[in-house]
Amino acid sequence: MTDRVAALIQKLTTTHRLTLSEYTELIQNRTPKAAAELAKRAVKVRQEIYGNTVFVRGLIEISNICKNDCLYCGIRCSNPHADRYRLTPEEILACADEGYSLGFRTFVLQGGEDPFFTDKVLCSLIGNIKEKYPDCAITLSLGERSRESYQRLFDAGADRYLLRHETANETHYRKLHPSTMSLATRMKALRDLKEIGYQVGCGFMVGSPYQTAETIAEDLKFIEEFQPDMCGIGPFIPHKDTPFAGEAAGTLELTCYLLSIVRLIHPPVLLPSTTALGTIHPSGREMGIKAGANVVMPNLSPVTVREKYELYNNKICTGEEAAEARDRLASRIRSIGYEIVTDRGDIKKERN
Ligand code: SAH
Repeated sequence: MTDRVAALIQKLTTTHRLTLSEYTELIQNRTPKAAAELAKRAVKVRQEIYGNTVFVRGLIEISNICKNDCLYCGIRCSNPHADRYRLTPEEILACADEGYSLGFRTFVLQGGEDPFFTDKVLCSLIGNIKEKYPDCAITLSLGERSRESYQRLFDAGADRYLLRHETANETHYRKLHPSTMSLATRMKALRDLKEIGYQVGCGFMVGSPYQTAETIAEDLKFIEEFQPDMCGIGPFIPHKDTPFAGEAAGTLELTCYLLSIVRLIHPPVLLPSTTALGTIHPSGREMGIKAGANVVMPNLSPVTVREKYELYNNKICTGEEAAEARDRLASRIRSIGYEIVTDRGDIKKERN
């Protein structure tokens, strides 16, 4: 590691910010030593805020029907090979019942932009889950909706919303999405969600086609300014029925490096070690935690639909990442010195 990189890491640790060109430099000149130093510091600040706890969320993939056509995504509307499904509100409630008994206190409802899930349907579903489990948080990850819709869902009881910004660079955004979508709309949705009062998550894929050190620097700058409560960062993994079928996947190494940087930019952030990270490497999730992540999101969807929610190929869904294997997951997490807790797992803004 050069003195210059060491100085950048020191500056990032103390000021929680770098300039765009400094972020670019930190990414371009990374070495295993720099990664180890960043991880050590990231783990230290996370420890000061969250101790050795790792939060879990029960992920319920409510539908793979989507009106969008994101070029990277396996459930894009123009993929005729996707085997489409939609859970009924009763099935979703049954997943929450199972999740509650397994010790989950946050349910994440994620899905494609499926017109079936109107405000009316969702508000009634959210109300039912909240009525039955008032001690649980509900996170939504259902894409772009109007501000009025976000407000209604919040009023019905939703606590958090995950909407990855995908890339903070306009030109890059256009290369990943159809012309009907825009970075401006995405950013407006994120601002709306924050103003309404949600705990908000942004995020991006690592190694998506056309990504460069400069575009990643813009992602980091955006995170620094937006101060999200949550941030989803996982490797891009190609899906065979998308225009990006032949592209390379993102790496474990760069994903972990960026997890550490994001932890240092915004120490209290809730940072998942993603399923995608667990998919590209058998101990990817543990490595993400060792780099500074503090959340895992096991799959609570009915086993029959898990393979159909195929954003990318070879998605893991029946090993320790399955919610019903919470004990096995807990012992894997314990083996690296952390403890899974039965808790809503809200962001902690003050240090212990
Ligand atoms: N429709 C919702 C949920 C999308 S799926 C929304 O728009 O927010 C959640 C995330 O999966 C996406 O934000 C994207 O970053 C990620 N994803 C999609 N395709 C992927 C792929 N091929 N590899 C890795 N991650 C992918």
